[in-house]
Amino acid sequence: MSIDRTTALVRALRREFDGRVVAPGDSGYDEARAVVYGGTADRRPTAILRPANAEQVARVIAVARETGLPLAVRGGGHSNAGHGVCDGLVLDLSAMKGIDIDVEGRTAWAETGLTCGEYLAAVGAHGLVTGFGDTASVGIGGITLGGGVGYLVRKHGLTVDDLLAAEIVTADGAILHTDADHHPDLFWAIRGGGGNFGVATRLRFRLHELDRVYGGLLILPATPEAIVSFVTEAQAAPEELSTIANIMPAPPMPFVPEEHHGRPVIMAMMCHAGPAEEGPRVMDRFRAIAPPLADLLGEMPYAGMYPPEDELHPISDFTNMFIDRVDHDTATTIVHYLNTSTATLPAAQLRVLGGAMARIPADATAFPHRQSRIMVNLAAIYEDPAESPLHRAWVAEFAAAVRQDDQGAYVNFLADEGDERVRVAYPGGAYERLAAIKAVYDPGNVFRVNQNIPPATS
Ligand SMILES: Cc1cc2nc3c(=O)[nH]c(=O)nc-3n(C[C@H](O)[C@H](O)[C@H](O)COP(=O)(O)OP(=O)(O)OC[C@H]3O[C@@H](n4cnc5c(N)ncnc54)[C@H](O)[C@@H]3O)c2cc1C
Repeated sequence: MSIDRTTALVRALRREFDGRVVAPGDSGYDEARAVVYGGTADRRPTAILRPANAEQVARVIAVARETGLPLAVRGGGHSNAGHGVCDGLVLDLSAMKGIDIDVEGRTAWAETGLTCGEYLAAVGAHGLVTGFGDTASVGIGGITLGGGVGYLVRKHGLTVDDLLAAEIVTADGAILHTDADHHPDLFWAIRGGGGNFGVATRLRFRLHELDRVYGGLLILPATPEAIVSFVTEAQAAPEELSTIANIMPAPPMPFVPEEHHGRPVIMAMMCHAGPAEEGPRVMDRFRAIAPPLADLLGEMPYAGMYPPEDELHPISDFTNMFIDRVDHDTATTIVHYLNTSTATLPAAQLRVLGGAMARIPADATAFPHRQSRIMVNLAAIYEDPAESPLHRAWVAEFAAAVRQDDQGAYVNFLADEGDERVRVAYPGGAYERLAAIKAVYDPGNVFRVNQNIPPATS
């Protein structure tokens, strides 16, 4: 677009959006275009627009269609591929943070500018919860549309399993209400298919009663034997327990004995959301694996599972997969690779799945990995972009060594890894079904700055 046309467009948008527009030259432009994750993405949007309601969202979509500019939709800005920003228009939902909680009915309508932490604080005030992931600053839109795997995955399933309805603004500007009875194809697709089908402006979630949990951080030495035992115990535990185990060099935390700093440990976030008296008994099985290097487990409000976050987000390379088992060979491979990395922080994250998540049929939503047993994220976090090729190669080699029969991946943990990796996120016919639904709701692929599923061609 010419400079004159761009200037005129931005001027017109400023009037329309009551000043909630940030463009090059404005103070705050660099902050507004920065994404939380997404590596070295340095994109310079023509304008960042912060609509206040679904009608204004429709207007932004219309501008993208009229100008042909790429359109990025930004919720919490945590896309691992940097999809929350682009060299075009950014539709930033951060001005839309309304929430309407029906305490009696155990449901909530939430606008998608909310982060998971903001949503959980609002519903937590009533002793209620919806399960999201492990990080409070992630946006409720991005995590939900991709699936949502977190601290309640074995007890209540994925975030999408608690999604009851949504308001979606589609590529033609229509504001649709979708649920099991209204546009059921769209409702199926947004429960795993990401932002391909429109902008979700409001989501309606089921709420569960949950005041306190028994959980927190448990640190064990990461010997191959301890890793195998940890996974075995996590699989055998009652499904009230969900775990996220980061196997990584011990950070120099004051409560970790100094001689273990820099050596591989299992940093496990444990969440038991069952009867209070059973929590300690369930955790004792893990404490017995090896003498804990740190045991910060205890009873706490659910919000305690989300400690304050580090502000620094260095560069990372990573990948995601599912595996069926962690035997001695797999555990030895994990420890070996962690010991050979030169990254500031190399890590292998294991999430034992099953429970409520696995009871939903694979084709009931667009998250087909219901029977996958263990989710694995491999990451190298580092500071110098020049080291990227080195760490990228390490991640790829590590992944090849750990991979088993399950060829799938979880879309929300994909980096910018290419079309083939988006396909493996949707096995068993899900990809083709999503592409057909995309052709109905976004035939021109307006929503393409994402883990893209191009519309099927007939
Ligand atoms: C530190 C960290 C921890 C994480 N932990 C977990 C976890 O425990 N469990 C888990 O399941 N995932 C986790 N994730 C992955 C996370 O769910 C995805 O990165 C998610 O897409 C982020 O959503 P966002 O709104 O914050 O990001 P954004 O970058 O704003 O958006 C991500 C993608 O979703 C699209 N999108 C966002 N909102 C909307 C909307 N309202 N309508 C349409 N499209 C939209 C965007 O266009 C983009 O393609 C984590 C990511 C990070 C960086």
